[in-house]
Amino acid sequence: MKKPLSFHEIMPDDVWKWKYMENQVEQVLSLYNYQEIRLSVLQDYNILYKGITALLDTEEAQEITGQIINLKQPDGNISLLSLRPEGTINVLNHVANNLEQNKIHRIFYHGHMFRKDAQQQPMEFDQLGVELLGSDSILSENEVMNMGVRICEQLGLKDARLEINSFGCNVCRPAYFKAMRQFLSDNKDKFCLSCFEALNNNPLHPTECMDSNCLHSTKQGPKIHEHLCNKCKTNFDRVKKIQTNLGNNFKINHNLVKNFSYYNETVFNFVIQTNGHTEVIGGGGRYDYLSNRITGKQIPAVGFYLNLDLVYNIMSARNLFQTQSKPFRVYISTQSDDLEIMLLQIVQELHEDDISTIINTDRNPTEKDTEVALENDCQVMVILRAENIREGKALLKNFIKEKQSYVSLSDLLPEIDIIRKSAQVTT
Ligand SMILES: [Zn+2]
Ligand SMILES: [Zn+2]
Repeated sequence: MKKPLSFHEIMPDDVWKWKYMENQVEQVLSLYNYQEIRLSVLQDYNILYKGITALLDTEEAQEITGQIINLKQPDGNISLLSLRPEGTINVLNHVANNLEQNKIHRIFYHGHMFRKDAQQQPMEFDQLGVELLGSDSILSENEVMNMGVRICEQLGLKDARLEINSFGCNVCRPAYFKAMRQFLSDNKDKFCLSCFEALNNNPLHPTECMDSNCLHSTKQGPKIHEHLCNKCKTNFDRVKKIQTNLGNNFKINHNLVKNFSYYNETVFNFVIQTNGHTEVIGGGGRYDYLSNRITGKQIPAVGFYLNLDLVYNIMSARNLFQTQSKPFRVYISTQSDDLEIMLLQIVQELHEDDISTIINTDRNPTEKDTEVALENDCQVMVILRAENIREGKALLKNFIKEKQSYVSLSDLLPEIDIIRKSAQVTT
């Protein structure tokens, strides 16, 4: 049975938490000088298709293109416009077509992505993507891995750790593929059919096998690290050494596989223990061959994604969102006709002083106004009534000191400012 559609909506009570999370992430990204790119939610299907089929083997590409959500035209035909399923292809095209080559570009993006899930239901998810393009130096993958760890720490996820592996290169990977296919053919009866076919097609295919008799479920077989060439082996040793010296919590995971086989050399995941199991909250790796296949230009690159929905849920469960200090806020209301202009003028002057306001647009008795003002965490209430205005005064209620007085209109703003200062809350 299909599960009901769920929409990725964020209600006002939770938006501040998303902003908090995004701000923390961006603080770290800005320390490393990453520039934000804002990608269109509508994407050209042909470009996505070309990118995905260029970078993945046929079966994998079919699986991924099958997850793309295309719009329907009024005549019922499928449009060539897709909802953004990922960002890397777009970023690579942008860098290859619009930016100076032979330079290093550090780019990030975040926002909603759209794909079909296993039941072909549309799903919407929030993802951060980080790409460092133009460098094949070992420094660049260590930079992005380090940055990912720092982002987790900044968010309060201090137990997040790295898992790393090497996917080898075009030189050494064929030897591993050959060894894996040999192992498969020697042990054909010990694999279930779907694992056998998937692995035979792509030995790096991540297969979650539930069949305990299938050798793949016990993760047996040759490992790519046993087949690395000297260059890949040296690079991987250096990555391990750098991460050790930086004091980053990491584990070598020779079984680490990726949804995309286009990675080469260093691949990594960010994992966290939650509810007794290991959760992958993000990951990435080096993808030096990808650009050439998509854009025709050689752009070595490394990047990672972070599953922001998952990060948000873990942060919520761990109470990691620091409660905001309440802003200083004035509730303002009029109980007589023809005072709207005066009310709006006072509001304007308060705003010039960076003081937040709530205007009551209804005519309420004072008790009701008081109730609404307190509900909205206002520290001050101003009520304009014709009989007071004739004497040049307005009613000012100070909720902090629980007192009220009639102050002259010329003293209204200075009085509010005194209360703000005494409140010692942020504005
Ligand atoms: Zn190699
Ligand atoms: Zn299996």
